[in-house]
Amino acid sequence: KAAHNGVVACGEYGEDMRDNIVNEQVIVNNMQSSLLRGEFLVYIQPKYELMSEKIVGGEALVRWLHPQLGFISPSRFIPIFEKNGFIYQLDKYVWERACQILREDMDAGRPVLPISVNVSRIDFYSPNIVQVFEQLIEKYDIPPRLLELELTESAYVENPQQIIEITKELQRKGFPILMDDFGSGYSSLNMLKDMPVDILKIDLQFLSDSDKEDNGRGGNILNSVVRMAKWLHIPVIAEGVEKQQQVDFLRTIGCECVQGYFFSKPVPLEVYRDLVGKGFSETPLPVHLGPEDT
Ligand code: C2E
Ligand code: MG
Ligand code: MG
Ligand code: MG
Repeated sequence: KAAHNGVVACGEYGEDMRDNIVNEQVIVNNMQSSLLRGEFLVYIQPKYELMSEKIVGGEALVRWLHPQLGFISPSRFIPIFEKNGFIYQLDKYVWERACQILREDMDAGRPVLPISVNVSRIDFYSPNIVQVFEQLIEKYDIPPRLLELELTESAYVENPQQIIEITKELQRKGFPILMDDFGSGYSSLNMLKDMPVDILKIDLQFLSDSDKEDNGRGGNILNSVVRMAKWLHIPVIAEGVEKQQQVDFLRTIGCECVQGYFFSKPVPLEVYRDLVGKGFSETPLPVHLGPEDT
């Protein structure tokens, strides 16, 4: 598929961004120069409050648009970068872009909503990851609550003690911690017991294959997770919402926030800002009332 000056009728936004089959060696040979040439783009997928359908923030998702190779999907290149360590460089680039975006919004007097960034388990092997985040928010002079950190659930499995320590430190410094892909791993409930978590993102697998009114078995699990999160006073975001019927179901079980193609795909920054302009809410995610308070 042809790419034109890294623009490619821009990506998922609007059209199908079909994955190019590129072999691993090609990916490795091109990653460094692509980073230098700005061929990794940061798209943003809005997160919506379910009741008001207003935007409460966005997630930064990296896109690789190579002028010759075309679009390469994150699910293709991220595992390769995690294997060879390049992910840390790329992630630092994405984190910095998120900070720049927040600073621009503040300077321009636009609404300033939190942006979440993904943190790979590999990034935790860097001894100074906490300082990296601290230096970034200092450099751009933004409050840490605006830079949310998404950690995929499976990250904890590998080196739990070290990851828990570092995550707690980041949380103490004021960075909100989001547990990503919750429910996708083996020991989700155990994680929840040990890990600092401010917001839970429920994996999209619970929403799939659901044409039934009650969403079937996945629906029952979703319902239980949302209830459990309420008990724990942790707000929930459901990922991968694609259909009206899923929206209706999530409303009935009291899920606060959603992210998914039904509302918006990940989009270029300008498009995200337009969407925010059409309806946003600056109130932070609500802290749940547990059953004892209701
Ligand atoms: P993730 O962090 O769980 O991000 C959500 C993924 O689900 C994104 O895929 C997003 O485009 C996709 N998605 C959102 N809504 C829907 C929907 O309604 N239906 C479906 N089928 N998919 C939906 P994407 O951007 O391809 O990223 C895949 C994964 O790659 C991410 O999963 C994340 O783990 C990783 N990733 C993406 N960008 C970065 C990054 O900058 N750094 C790191 N370390 N990982 C990243
Ligand atoms: Mg994520
Ligand atoms: Mg996720
Ligand atoms: Mg995911």
